[in-house]
Amino acid sequence: MNGVANLALERESRVGTIAFIDLKAQQKVIREKVEKRLLAVLDHGRYIGGPEIEELETTLAEKVGVKHCIACSSGTDALIIPMMGLGLEKTDAVFIPAFTYNATANAVIVAGGTPIFVDIDPETLNMSPADLTTRIDQAKAAGMRPRAVCPVDLFGLPADYLAIGQIAAKEGMVLFSDGAQSFGGRQNGRWVGALAPVTGTSFFPGKALGAYGDAGATFTDDENMAEICQSIRWHGTDEKRAQSVRVGINGRMSTFQAAVLLEKNAIFWDELEQRKRVAAIYDERLAGLADPQHVPAGSEHGYGYYTVQVENRDAVREKMGVAGVPTAVYYMTPLHHMPAFSSYAPEGGMPVSEAATSRVLSLPMHPYLTDEQAHFVCDVFAAAVKEA
Ligand SMILES: *Cc1c(COP(=O)(O)O)cnc(C)c1O
Repeated sequence: MNGVANLALERESRVGTIAFIDLKAQQKVIREKVEKRLLAVLDHGRYIGGPEIEELETTLAEKVGVKHCIACSSGTDALIIPMMGLGLEKTDAVFIPAFTYNATANAVIVAGGTPIFVDIDPETLNMSPADLTTRIDQAKAAGMRPRAVCPVDLFGLPADYLAIGQIAAKEGMVLFSDGAQSFGGRQNGRWVGALAPVTGTSFFPGKALGAYGDAGATFTDDENMAEICQSIRWHGTDEKRAQSVRVGINGRMSTFQAAVLLEKNAIFWDELEQRKRVAAIYDERLAGLADPQHVPAGSEHGYGYYTVQVENRDAVREKMGVAGVPTAVYYMTPLHHMPAFSSYAPEGGMPVSEAATSRVLSLPMHPYLTDEQAHFVCDVFAAAVKEA
């Protein structure tokens, strides 16, 4: 087998430059249409609340299969806005995984609640329903009220909404979904956005469906929740926007971002198939070398990222870099070890989350990776594992 050093020499002639995420290749495909869309916004001049916002909301709600999509300024706001709608208090426990992006915890705290960390399942890397039960009992014993649970579809894999939904129903908690990484994922025939009563997703440029700036959206079937979200994203105003009837924020999406997203969405669903093509190559070639996320029966991964767990992660990563294969580590630090959230750290820690931080490695994943490039990534991964 070819070693890392040889592969490094061969890369340019074999597969050219490998990007971790390739927004340039994507832009080439849609450039003209995006320009047209942006010019249309310049012409009508409704930079906030333009017709593209409603067009985007209708398009996405229909596709996902929910009644309401509320476009907003970021994925973080897509969670903060509906959480503010609950009127959370400090004694309200909102259960979130310890292994996620910091935004999930920030959203809970900004909305006034208390985040309670839950450990993850070692195979899916998503919230563990068993640990959720434990943490609910602990929170109750500490005098907290279990108010909501917000699992995260890490890297694009839907969380266990069946099990977590049952626990939520039993405890009278609101079930949220942090679908910031999982747009395009599915579970039992339903798209992300329709897997929980309230879902927040992100259109950060690096996400699978990304804008050209910050943007996000909340999805819900609940009429009342939708109205509250529409109000809160516009300073808590009434329908006429005449006065504030509740405390809100400026959480609106820029019309320019909606214009970009309409064209991005038009190719997103084909791109999703391309992501799956790359993932299938990785799945087959990396079997036995590393542990990809286990995809439970009934779930379809959205492949926002392709992440494996591997021994000697740092050495593997360094060697892959030498051979010109970019990788990333999401996440180096579990939330309860971050200074901002250490006051919420549970006694005894979160052993599975902590172990994952030293084993996870995200590989290049985007629709424009060629089969040859994906195979090259696997060649390099295999060589790096051997030499690490
Ligand atoms: C990206 C992300 C967010 C926040 O989205 P922004 O658009 O960056 O505000 C929230 N949760 C998770 C899991 C994310 O990956």
